[in-house]
Amino acid sequence: MLRFLALAALATATVAPASAGSDRHVVLISLDGFPARYLDDPEVSLPVIRGLRDAGACTAEGMHVSNPSVTWPNHTTLVTGVPPATHGVIYNGVLTRAAGKPTTSAAERRQSELARVPLLFDVLKAKGLTSAAINWPCTSGSESIDDNWPDVPKTFTYTTPRLKEELEKSGLLKKFEAGAAGRDEAWAEGTAHVIRERKPNFIALHLLELDSTHHQHGPETSQGREVAAKLDALVGKVVKATEDAGIRDKTTFFIVADHGFIANTKTIRPNIALRDAKLLAVAGDKVESARAYVVPEGGIGLVYLTDPATKEEDRKAVHGLFDGVEGVAAVLDPADFPRYGLPDPDGHPGMADMVIAAKDGYSVGGAFKGDGLIQEHAPKGTHGYLSTEPKMNALFVASGAGIKPGSKLPSVENLDVAPTAASLLGVPLEKPAGRVLTEILAESK
Ligand SMILES: [Zn+2]
Repeated sequence: MLRFLALAALATATVAPASAGSDRHVVLISLDGFPARYLDDPEVSLPVIRGLRDAGACTAEGMHVSNPSVTWPNHTTLVTGVPPATHGVIYNGVLTRAAGKPTTSAAERRQSELARVPLLFDVLKAKGLTSAAINWPCTSGSESIDDNWPDVPKTFTYTTPRLKEELEKSGLLKKFEAGAAGRDEAWAEGTAHVIRERKPNFIALHLLELDSTHHQHGPETSQGREVAAKLDALVGKVVKATEDAGIRDKTTFFIVADHGFIANTKTIRPNIALRDAKLLAVAGDKVESARAYVVPEGGIGLVYLTDPATKEEDRKAVHGLFDGVEGVAAVLDPADFPRYGLPDPDGHPGMADMVIAAKDGYSVGGAFKGDGLIQEHAPKGTHGYLSTEPKMNALFVASGAGIKPGSKLPSVENLDVAPTAASLLGVPLEKPAGRVLTEILAESK
């Protein structure tokens, strides 16, 4: 149905003509862990974002996200238009498997070690357009981003020198280092600064506090709503910066999120069951050896079968332990992965051999000590659930230059954001899995 509508809309809507050195601007803001449903929740105060929505486009269901429904994979989808199966980012870092040992992870990695395809920043650079990224994942070491303050541990080691110097002078570096509470503000003010000073064609901003708050307290809590309102004001600061820079009427805004959130009071602890089944051995405070090992990713667990000699036997054992047990929605094998946009482990060394998916109300934990598969606890929140779960749907609002006011679609895919943004900048993407959202584009005059 949507595809049919898209074809129909092609007849009336036209995409901006390609031109390097363009005076068009796109501002992409990701509010980490902002569920689609907050947009219509009267208890969440969002005057700026709702104002942008009313003057622009939104959807009934929000935006469908990628599996795994976690931060780095989805931010990479947002700036490539392809799923994790293609761009290769499946975790907030790089996962490394070792024969007979637990899988390890490392977050301090460069774009070139994480993403297998060019990001929108790279595509724009090749066409002579400028860009900036503030706290955007998987961009560290980018040679294309003119001003980059990346989402990576030891962030200022990897910040572009000119911007780092300006952040020092303006006090934003100090504000950032004072602690987590002021970081979103520092990132938003840093974005406003770059817009005013450099007027980049494309700038991507990622704000984090709502995700942390939702993890700690759960979604639909007073704490979550309060932070959402704070983010709304920060979006307002960025919009104001485009006015100060005199580019408001040439700027398109995408206000999105990487995933939604689900409240849970029970944690599934598969490594404890693997330990009891002698597929994993614990010595002291660490896992000494593992034929099967689970890396938790919120609503899913990535299962690594590390011994090629016993892999198929161990796969059966994992099914035997987790198929149909409390809290488990599904246990997936590689044959299922393409359906969920996940890569095949044969072509991606960091990808798991199986995936355990949790039900609403449960999360997957990594504990390997203690007893009992299920642990009950005070309400918390997480994400990472299969993206077919509607509560994983993320915020989507598009507004400003080139967007038809009052457009409302049933839903969009996060794969569609990069192709649409690129098209508005006059630099169409070559092979996106998503599409240009022609229905929300204003007719060119
Ligand atoms: Zn996130």
